[in-house]
Amino acid sequence: MDAPDIIIAIDGFSSTGKSSFAKLVAKDLGFLYLDSGALYRGVTLAAMEAGAIDENRNIDLPALEKILCGLDLHFERQGDACVLYSGSRCIEKEIRTLAVSDKVSPVSAVGSVRNFVDGILHRAGESRRVVMDGRDIGTSVFPDAELKIFMTADPQVRASRRAAELKAKGENVDIGEVLRNLQERDYIDSHREVSPLTKAEDAIVLDNSDMTFGDQMEWIREIIRTRFSSAAPESPEAASEPQAKDGAR
Ligand code: C5P
Repeated sequence: MDAPDIIIAIDGFSSTGKSSFAKLVAKDLGFLYLDSGALYRGVTLAAMEAGAIDENRNIDLPALEKILCGLDLHFERQGDACVLYSGSRCIEKEIRTLAVSDKVSPVSAVGSVRNFVDGILHRAGESRRVVMDGRDIGTSVFPDAELKIFMTADPQVRASRRAAELKAKGENVDIGEVLRNLQERDYIDSHREVSPLTKAEDAIVLDNSDMTFGDQMEWIREIIRTRFSSAAPESPEAASEPQAKDGAR
């Protein structure tokens, strides 16, 4: 699809399929995809390995800040995928475990951690043509993003999708535990002081509880076609923006 030089910010609740959707959108448009959650997970893994966060999720702030000074997190292409590296070590598998999910929200609430990740995201978005997914992209990281999507879905649907994903990766998970984890993360993410998870006023809500990836792609293509002049509508019927599933804007 012909696409203008824009930033697409995809924010929303945990396990709503933001990353999978954002990846597809980026591929469709030939944009760079950036998974901000992976960076928060990378910081969390480093904190866990260095003992800067304990079992009760107490954070040793000076130790965490020292880690940030020497941490080199970056993405590398592996075929079609983009995976996270810490220095020369691929940490893509480790950052997706439930153990990291359990500690990532408290770590992400630390101001210096957010500044660290924001620096990486700002550099990546300098030339636009990027799709970023996270919790605060449209509200705080790129409040000037030209297209903002806020994703949500029924918590049960989210938990079963996430549990299936973890099982496919060989992790032995209990769906109740997955549900608890995502609800707890949503709570911490929405209530923290620094850039909490909230819908940007100008974000379009996408509730994908009953939507396939195909439905979601059709939905966003239509929005891009109708909103951005360089991607002209393919047909006169495509002249009006599609309604988000719950009608929210
Ligand atoms: O997107 P994902 O679920 O992998 O993100 C993991 C965690 O990272 C979130 O639960 C949240 O605590 C944090 N996060 C954040 N801000 C972002 C992206 C993720 O605080 N922009």
